[in-house]
Amino acid sequence: MRLSRMYLPTLKEDPADAEIISHKLMLRSGMIRKVTAGVYAYMPLGFRALKKVENIVRQEMDGIDAQEILMPALQPAELWQISGRWYAYGSEMMRLKDRHQREFCLGPTHEELVTTLAREVRSYRDLPIILYQIQVKFRDEIRPRFGVMRSREFIMKDAYSFHADRESLAAVYASMHQAYGRIVKRCGLNYRSVQAAGGLIGGAVSEEFHVLAETGEDTIIFCSECDYAANLELAASRWHLLPNEEPQPLSKVETPGKIAVSDVAKFLDVPSSKLVKTLLYKDKSGELFGALIPGHRSVNPAKLTLALGREVALLDKNEFNIYPQLTYGYIGPIGLHGIKLIADTSLKQLYNFIVGANESDHHYKNVNLERDFTPDAWGDIIYAEEGDICGQCGQGELRKLRGIEIGHIFQLGTKYSEKMGITFVDKTGKPKPFIMGCYGVGVSRLVAAAIEQKSDERGIIWPISIAPFHVHLIAVGKDEKVKETAEELYNNLLAEGVEILYDDRSISAGIKFAEADLIGLPLQVIIGKKFLETKKFEVKERENGELTEVPFESIIGWLKDKIHSELRLVNEEPNKEKA
Ligand code: ATP
Ligand code: MG
Repeated sequence: MRLSRMYLPTLKEDPADAEIISHKLMLRSGMIRKVTAGVYAYMPLGFRALKKVENIVRQEMDGIDAQEILMPALQPAELWQISGRWYAYGSEMMRLKDRHQREFCLGPTHEELVTTLAREVRSYRDLPIILYQIQVKFRDEIRPRFGVMRSREFIMKDAYSFHADRESLAAVYASMHQAYGRIVKRCGLNYRSVQAAGGLIGGAVSEEFHVLAETGEDTIIFCSECDYAANLELAASRWHLLPNEEPQPLSKVETPGKIAVSDVAKFLDVPSSKLVKTLLYKDKSGELFGALIPGHRSVNPAKLTLALGREVALLDKNEFNIYPQLTYGYIGPIGLHGIKLIADTSLKQLYNFIVGANESDHHYKNVNLERDFTPDAWGDIIYAEEGDICGQCGQGELRKLRGIEIGHIFQLGTKYSEKMGITFVDKTGKPKPFIMGCYGVGVSRLVAAAIEQKSDERGIIWPISIAPFHVHLIAVGKDEKVKETAEELYNNLLAEGVEILYDDRSISAGIKFAEADLIGLPLQVIIGKKFLETKKFEVKERENGELTEVPFESIIGWLKDKIHSELRLVNEEPNKEKA
């Protein structure tokens, strides 16, 4: 493509509303344009990168015998009413009505729809089946941000598998896991797969794939010793052993106006870890629960939900008025009647701690378990923190990384097939609901994540496998001979099938170089006055700035070899392993 013909609206300055690097660079390099909050158009350069990622994803899916289909974005409400998710999805679902007032949504995901498509699978002999699509999804995110990273309309690859038994599901899940690893590797990125919480999609076994980047919205916890890695949402941890203490007599102390843990600790001259906080939660029916955790830690709502087996919300300060027996700021487990208490397991090691006395301006000191109160239940309900002991091996220490979730795989089970009554005939001739898995890749997010992981102060640094073009040919100066040579090289490279962008514009060399670095194609071929003397092209590698002088005669072969060998490094044989 000639730059003089290409629609490449670049920006010199960082756009004001872009917070992270990838968003800034995607706008500045003219890859995307905002249409409205969380809705973007892909411009020619951006669309090329998107298609590169799509193709890698497609090859890896085809490689494990997943079959590509295309489902509609427009879905009737009835499907979601049968599965029960029409309400559960809440305001993240984009809803609309047709002219007959029938309700629809624009699909945030396709479990319901794809399940109905399996209706015609009759026998266990036809299983497993894996279907996938690369298609647009709609989610009315509370905070659309970071450009296409968290948008309201985005491209997802979603795959769904149907099985007769758990073993078959586990096998396909394992090959998906492998394929996902290959997808991210082939995009040239560092990643980590971690255990994850099922969320709204559901399912017990699930893992996320994260591209590692400082600006990632997710926190990944991993062990320094074993292979444990999990999303912070569910990461399990243990504590370093604390010394035993001789229990001291319980006493009530005055703590006038001291509510915050740090204030109470300071006032009583003890570390915050000596305090135990009691936080009150309410479930849908209005039942209250007290969650007891160490003073210097915070409740992990996802873990609390799991431990209690129901959704709960923190009691709002205003709601305390409804319950005269509750004293805001001084809640504690002793004498808190009629409220079920769940305590974090780390408290089992604590002696002589401090709790609220359920009375204004007072706390209890030297509180001890069993003697002074007994929780109704124990559970791991706090956020894991760096330095905690690994919950899996009990040896290593936990560490933290930031990541961008670009994929999520689930062993779903029969959640959808059962609710929707979609069955096959098993070996014994009986109808059985399908056992299912589902597997998503944020294709558009993956493009942004690549830029987030690889860029410098001058612009994008494309991994070769997903670069919009491989070569950026830059002709410098007004010399006719230079121009002629550049034209000839451009045409020859095109004829050889090299993906090339040719800056043939009559503008300053400075602008050309700055733009070349901004849009970040892997190989810049520079031809200027110097070429007329040396008959050598200057090739600059965008990633490391390395310069190589390549003679006129060998430039085509040199570029083709370079591109092929770099691509080979990331593109080993597509995964042939069968599910
Ligand atoms: P997140 O926790 O980031 O909201 P999710 O758990 O809602 O993601 P899934 O439902 O598992 O995501 O969707 C599969 C993939 O789609 C995600 O791994 C992510 O890469 C991508 N994705 C999800 N929401 C968005 C969005 N709003 N914009 C772009 N990509 C998204
Ligand atoms: Mg989400």
